[in-house]
Amino acid sequence: MVTMPPITFSVVARDGHARAGILNTRRGIIETPVFMPVGTAGTVKATRFEALEEELDARIILGNTYHLWLRPGIDIIRACGGLHKFIGWHRPLLTDSGGFQVWSLGALRKISEEGTEFRSHVDGSLRFLSPEVSMEVQAALGSDIVMVFDECAPGKATHDQAQASLELTARWAKRSRERFDQLQREGPDMGSLGITLPEDTSVGTIADNIAPQPGCPAGAPAIPALPEELTGAQALFGIVQGAAHRDLRRESLERTVEIGFDGYAIGGLSVGEEKSVMWDVVDEVSLLMPPDRPRYLMGVGTPEDLIAAVARGIDMFDCVLPTRNGRTGQAFTSRGKLNVKNVQWTEDQRPLDESCRCSVCQRHSRAYLRHLHQTGEMLAGILLTHHNLAFFLDTMRRVRQSIRSGDFPKFRREFIERLSASGE
Ligand SMILES: [Zn+2]
Repeated sequence: MVTMPPITFSVVARDGHARAGILNTRRGIIETPVFMPVGTAGTVKATRFEALEEELDARIILGNTYHLWLRPGIDIIRACGGLHKFIGWHRPLLTDSGGFQVWSLGALRKISEEGTEFRSHVDGSLRFLSPEVSMEVQAALGSDIVMVFDECAPGKATHDQAQASLELTARWAKRSRERFDQLQREGPDMGSLGITLPEDTSVGTIADNIAPQPGCPAGAPAIPALPEELTGAQALFGIVQGAAHRDLRRESLERTVEIGFDGYAIGGLSVGEEKSVMWDVVDEVSLLMPPDRPRYLMGVGTPEDLIAAVARGIDMFDCVLPTRNGRTGQAFTSRGKLNVKNVQWTEDQRPLDESCRCSVCQRHSRAYLRHLHQTGEMLAGILLTHHNLAFFLDTMRRVRQSIRSGDFPKFRREFIERLSASGE
């Protein structure tokens, strides 16, 4: 039997520890380092999918298991043919496991060996999420990259607390792996529908015998045939925990690698700890992570954080900053953050960022964006979000180019110099 992986990853260039790679998924190629816009509830807030695909060229976005599971619910998403079809996005999707969202509920949740019991923020109903349930939900969503269900220790957890959390995460990772493998063996996940497998593979064909679902329009754009070296199955990533304790982070990594995953993530950072703690942890584990698998730093960060993490060998990122801050009037620019609320922009004819080529900067002035924001027009959030995503994605494009051309240190130095030279 030929063993084909669900994804392949190859590093095509290195500059120091920074690496440029190609992540081949069943729904398209992703160049790394990559920033993944966050689409919490099946939408990258205030952004149309056309813009994500065409102008922004986002190759992969995130979906949140917790939010989608509670609303609209898995039965509805399954009836609508999986998350890709439901939302009208045909490129790769990564879903988190729900572990982090449930952890964020604080006192509203109860953690046991079996899983986590919590009250839904939507209707107050009692719900239960476990490694098995998370894998089942993510199979029904049909994401291309699935995350294991983990327990996130608080950044300030003591060594004992973090150790206990790490042990639980390791047991949950194993249970996630087992249920995930079982589900993959049982049949195709929702996201594999419509993808054509190459002929003569030992894994059979994707079941096309699932009847069209009533109530959901057909006619989605054609999905390219699967690259020949892929199985068409979902990929599963493991998550390294251990709070701020470097020995525990190392132990967590070893135990996660022992189980074996398609990619590895560093979780439990960017949750209110000092920046120096985050870099200590990343320094401790990033270069020990398997070099032939993608490395994902979850929930990070600002443009300068992304570049600093790339310099430490990280390949994948997600963060709500460009979208969330866009809705509150904050723009990320090559000269630092710009708050459109400021009175100094009242008559300013310049674009948000004079070196940005996005359609918002080509057309609109700071004065107009300020006016929209001050009058509560929804277009303010839409335009700022678009510019912010363009800035993040373009920065990553330039990061990749600089790694390929061996200029990454120079690019990084100039990028940081420009950011701190704002003074407008
Ligand atoms: Zn712009």
